Amino acid sequence: MGETMKALIVDDSPSSLAYHCALIDSMGLESVSAAGGREALERYQEQKFDFILLDVEMPSPDGYEVARRIRATESPDEWTPIIFLTGRTDEESLSKGIEAGGDDYLAKPVSELVLAAKMAALRRLNHIRSALVTTAGQLRDTNHLLWQANEKLKTIAAVDGLTGIANRRRLDEMLGREWGRAIREHTPLSVLMADVDFFKLYNDSYGHQAGDDCLRKISGALALAARRPGDLAARYGGEEFAIVLPNTPLEGARHVAQFALEKVLSLGIPHKASKVRDQVSISIGVASVCPDTAKCSCCADLVKMADRALYEAKERGRARVVWAESTPSETV
Ligand code: GH3
Ligand code: MG
Ligand code: MG
Ligand code: MG
Repeated sequence: MGETMKALIVDDSPSSLAYHCALIDSMGLESVSAAGGREALERYQEQKFDFILLDVEMPSPDGYEVARRIRATESPDEWTPIIFLTGRTDEESLSKGIEAGGDDYLAKPVSELVLAAKMAALRRLNHIRSALVTTAGQLRDTNHLLWQANEKLKTIAAVDGLTGIANRRRLDEMLGREWGRAIREHTPLSVLMADVDFFKLYNDSYGHQAGDDCLRKISGALALAARRPGDLAARYGGEEFAIVLPNTPLEGARHVAQFALEKVLSLGIPHKASKVRDQVSISIGVASVCPDTAKCSCCADLVKMADRALYEAKERGRARVVWAESTPSETV
């Protein structure tokens, strides 16, 4: 409440209205008068009051109705104290007034002493209330900051720092989710494991920094190969990458693998120490299953199958795609 408190006095009896306005003015407060419920609601819409003295018995809308409408339009941060004025002081009217949204109940005519005491109580209440509103606001701000920080953390936790593509953690999470979905929806799930050929020799020849750049470029190429919205290219660790292809059978996965290999080759990164080409290449192992019909019982088995195929690709001369022949999905 400000320096000069402003009160709205509502009464359909002109003499009572004049008396209470004069009382408010004599206490050094500012009074605004309303000769009925409708006028009271109009004044309330126009300006802000520190409290309202509201006559109960008036032609419709009566005091109870006015209080209900004021409470219904108030925002959660607002609160204008309402003190009912009435000739009746029975318990039932009092309880009805509080229920309608009133804060206190005084018998007419109100004496200066009683009103001054109520003002003091109101000031105290309002003080506590503003402190609460401030605290609630600060809590909201803090919560928002926390939420922002959490969102940022989630992103950082899911992205590989060197390459900017998904990291191992995100891969595992996504693979688990897709495994469950494939079982539920009876769809095939494919995994590609890719490994850079002779990458130790690359580092030895060009330095670790150039090796890092090379990994970044390869990530970009693999991300291009994971084209569908549900596909995911991730750094598995070191110079190994994985691509997960939901709802994709072996044939489609082989296609994506071939595309990924060609994309990496077309980067044209010189690799003079490579024993298979003079440019950087990758080897890719492919595995595909329908989890609900498959022999393998978890997604880790699928990764193992792709890994074995990758090992075979290395054995057979690198820079190629090899798929797990025993893949049960081929028989589906
Ligand atoms: P292979 O064709 O059999 O895969 O041979 P390779 O040399 O690629 O395989 P090996 O596993 O022997 O070596 C992998 C190398 O990858 C060793 C390590 O120095 C390099 N490497 C792993 N992570 C990083 C990285 O983050 N940055 C760089 N620059 N090199 C890395
Ligand atoms: Mg009246
Ligand atoms: Mg490796
Ligand atoms: Mg390697």
